[in-house]
Amino acid sequence: MDLKGKNALVTGGSRGIGRAICLELAARGANVLVGYAGREEAALETVRLCREKGVEAEAIQGDVSKAPDVQAMVDKMLKTWSTLDILVCNAGITRDNLAMRMSEEDFDAVLDANLKGAFLCMKAACRPMMKQRFGRIICLSSIVGLRGNAGQANYAASKAGLIGMSKSFAKELAARGITVNLVAPGFIETDMTAVLPEKVREGLLSSIPMGKLGQPEDVARAAVFFAQPEAGYITGQVLCVDGGMAV
Ligand code: NAP
Repeated sequence: MDLKGKNALVTGGSRGIGRAICLELAARGANVLVGYAGREEAALETVRLCREKGVEAEAIQGDVSKAPDVQAMVDKMLKTWSTLDILVCNAGITRDNLAMRMSEEDFDAVLDANLKGAFLCMKAACRPMMKQRFGRIICLSSIVGLRGNAGQANYAASKAGLIGMSKSFAKELAARGITVNLVAPGFIETDMTAVLPEKVREGLLSSIPMGKLGQPEDVARAAVFFAQPEAGYITGQVLCVDGGMAV
């Protein structure tokens, strides 16, 4: 229970990696505010599973790319538990296509949700964290942001941008007791990857040295590591959780 008494906001906590992060935080004693875009039932299931672990949990709907929605999340956090100790910028989407066929709309939608969304969340979380002189911010990038990927120019740009942006926040906030780190998952079994055609999945599998897909829990354990007291002197780092894919 090394996070007992800490309060965490996880965007995109209704499903997949976000849900696993909520449960890992709850297992370590943190109270959790579960952010979601539209799937209320899934978010409430995450809340139920967190509460089963003996912590307090609530859900809040909101679009991370809209500043008033993000402010409402931070306000709810502070109203409910008085502090915002841990922010996990996990919400994300894909709209894949070859770059020459990619619409401007699909490019903007992915950058808005994945990059601007994280910017708005980090910016809104900064103020209370600076007042507390404590904060742990963890962002979900991707190995695609490090290496690029055919069919994902928009997604790769958003995830690479997230790395540069988080490192900048890390430098700005380091003296205030706030760390900012990233996890870069490889190919993880969630709704996001379930839609990939079998041929693409086979190709991806053959590029993973461990020969298997990752599970949301593999990513959650790495993400929550950055929130733990032992990680207090680590900031601006990217931790790949990818079965060796990016090696
Ligand atoms: P997922 O299963 O598709 O879940 C996405 C989550 O984000 C859902 O909770 C969704 O809410 C929420 N969301 C989407 N757009 C949002 C918005 N505009 N505002 C607020 N919430 C929004 O995704 P996942 O596979 O768990 O991925 C989680 C994160 O890890 C993403 O940032 C993704 O890019 C990154 N990642 C995933 C993989 C992978 O292989 N799966 C690899 C590398 C990186 P609703 O449930 O309400 O729709």
